[in-house]
Amino acid sequence: MKTIAILGSTGSIGTQTLEVVRENQDIRVAALAAGNNIALLEQQIREFAPKTAAVWTEEKAKELRERVKDLPVKIVSGMDGLLEISVLEETDILVTAIVGMIGIRPTIAAIRAGKDIALANKETLVTAGHIIMPLAKEHHVSILPVDSEHSAIFQSLQGNEKNSIKKILLTASGGPFRGRKREELANIQVEDALKHPNWEMGRKITIDSSTMINKGLEVIEAKWLFDVDFDQIQVVVQPQSVIHSMVEYEDGAVIAQLGTPDMKLPIQYALYYPKRRNLPGDRLDFWKLTELTFEQPDLETFYGLRLAYEAGRAGGTMPTVFNAANERAVSLFLDRKIKYLEIPEIIHYCMDAHKRKEAPTVEEILSAEAETYEQIESRWS
Ligand code: NDP
Repeated sequence: MKTIAILGSTGSIGTQTLEVVRENQDIRVAALAAGNNIALLEQQIREFAPKTAAVWTEEKAKELRERVKDLPVKIVSGMDGLLEISVLEETDILVTAIVGMIGIRPTIAAIRAGKDIALANKETLVTAGHIIMPLAKEHHVSILPVDSEHSAIFQSLQGNEKNSIKKILLTASGGPFRGRKREELANIQVEDALKHPNWEMGRKITIDSSTMINKGLEVIEAKWLFDVDFDQIQVVVQPQSVIHSMVEYEDGAVIAQLGTPDMKLPIQYALYYPKRRNLPGDRLDFWKLTELTFEQPDLETFYGLRLAYEAGRAGGTMPTVFNAANERAVSLFLDRKIKYLEIPEIIHYCMDAHKRKEAPTVEEILSAEAETYEQIESRWS
């Protein structure tokens, strides 16, 4: 029997994690955390009977306490609440399916308490990889990737622990605007950008996929997870999203993981690693698969990806600025306050203006985030 806690249980990854739990009889849910969606959280509490549940504001916590007063569940709130549920004695694995840098502190607390991390919350590694990875090593905890590409890399590394990686081939679908030129993206509307060709995901990450900034965040995430240089990470556009990523070894062998686009596979693999289990759902049918194609990413049109490499190579607080500027720009775009092409422009502006700090502490990371938000607020809101 495994016991898990989920940060972000009402989101896209959180609900799919609970689907995996539902399909298996041997995982217990000790705790759930959500932001605002207390109606769904209440249903989840009733179905999965966690001991503790967290919501962000105390107001929502009061409302939820009232709704579930017939159940023996403790409702907590705020950062203290997230920290409390991240270190519960009975938890083996913390699933970080929350969105944003808010995941940093709970992830650190969980690692210190010896919990393995099933990591979806890429912002934590992008901004604090230099803190998280050594800490995980020190506490002998595993960081199990949930992101499909990183899970594919992780799967391609199995049995090759003694071989060094030559190159990581990080695949990308190219998103809904693959093949278009920059000028053609000037009038893109929110609805256009929210249509991903292959994957169903949360709104923010869907926009990030359309700009290829998600791939940029994944490049930085891969650097930390697999301890490689940026020169060793090559983005390959694979429009059918069948090859989820690959690893090239010294002798030229390339090992890949393929599958249908279903996040439940990497989620289940992270929860049961190193065991594989049956997973209901579609299978790849190679007789129906007519083609597998590959392209080079267009770094002029999708220059947010180029900026991600620049931010990653600069290191220190720069990836935080990249991430925070993107987060705010995407939310302004979703609120229809800026145009689509302003997303990378805002990131570029914030990176240019930033005075980088080497090896930042969590406080310095959060203050770089706040500064970036203020800068955008004063110019674009
Ligand atoms: P969603 O927006 O669908 O879900 C985010 C979750 O975080 C929700 O449960 C939300 O709660 C919760 N949340 C937000 N703010 C808070 C807060 N202050 N306190 C507690 N909970 C909070 O995001 P996704 O599931 O798409 O993504 C989650 C993470 O996983 C991101 O880092 C993303 O990059 C990564 N990821 C996602 C993939 C996908 O397929 N979706 C693939 C790979 C990685 P509520 O809704 O109740 O407000």
